[in-house]
Amino acid sequence: MLAFTQVLEARRRIGDLVLRTPLREAAGLSQRVGLPVWLKCEHQQITGSFKLRGASNALLALDNEARARGVVTASTGNHGRAVAFAARRLGVRAVVCMSNLVPANKVEAVQSLGAEVRIVGQSQDDAQREVDRLVADAGMTMVPPFDDANVIAGQGTLGLELMEQAPDTTVLLIPLSGGGLISGVALAAKTLNPDIRVIGVSMERGAAMQASLGARHPVEIEELPTLADSLGGGIGLDNRHTFAMVQAMVDEVVTVSEDEIAEAIRTAYFEEGEVIEGAAAVGIAALAGRKVRPSGPVIVVLSGRNIDMQLHARIIGGATPDIASGAAHA
Ligand SMILES: *Cc1c(COP(=O)(O)O)cnc(C)c1O
Repeated sequence: MLAFTQVLEARRRIGDLVLRTPLREAAGLSQRVGLPVWLKCEHQQITGSFKLRGASNALLALDNEARARGVVTASTGNHGRAVAFAARRLGVRAVVCMSNLVPANKVEAVQSLGAEVRIVGQSQDDAQREVDRLVADAGMTMVPPFDDANVIAGQGTLGLELMEQAPDTTVLLIPLSGGGLISGVALAAKTLNPDIRVIGVSMERGAAMQASLGARHPVEIEELPTLADSLGGGIGLDNRHTFAMVQAMVDEVVTVSEDEIAEAIRTAYFEEGEVIEGAAAVGIAALAGRKVRPSGPVIVVLSGRNIDMQLHARIIGGATPDIASGAAHA
């Protein structure tokens, strides 16, 4: 398990590369819940998600030789953006491997952040094989999206900010997929306040960590299209860090439906004026859907804003898009 000092070290390292994002009260939600509800506006982070914290820390932890050889990832989402951005800022070569199926807008998003894109094969597995080849043949370093000590410590810096910005909080609602975010945040928050409750929120359609907790070991579950696309994917059958950390430190995991996610995206927009992606909406969805019953001030982490704006417009117009058609992944 990681030590709290690794989170402090991460903050010292990444200080200038990431924003300290605002925490502000959500009046409408507070009224509905009957308790103060605070929003951690991490969707306003550079690159549009908290992933920049972990990626920056992982890159800064490399020695000079590893930096010279560069980094590689197969992520086309928020982690890929974060690695691309941090690498450019630090003058490190970054290669993002993608399959032919990845839509052009995602390819361009990563390219415009300065990374090299390598398009190989027809699946995410093909892209990952190219990553493995670059690690083996070119000595590049793979930066994992969640199951990595430096990545977790970097995400933990968000927890430090929460505890400074609202030390009297009793409950944290954190979007949960591979568990890098919640592991780092729980480590920081529980070190500073052992009584704080940390609740993970996943989507019903593919809650891999919840299924793994139930089985008491990492399990694979079927991946389904969801509005919370940044929460997709498994936790890795050979999980090294996050499964044990979630088991040890997360008090509860709850899930929300696609309708509840769509409704939460609307709440964020109409009540709070915030554009957030589906993965970032799950905390609001859990509160609004009474999946959690807090007894004191709550912080909801809004983890990202990278949603297709056509899709966002349809949701704002009142729809729960037909995710089964794959529209959410457009
Ligand atoms: C990656 C991501 C998450 C989930 O983080 P994990 O560390 O995989 O649990 C949540 N929200 C957004 C916007 C993300 O990009």
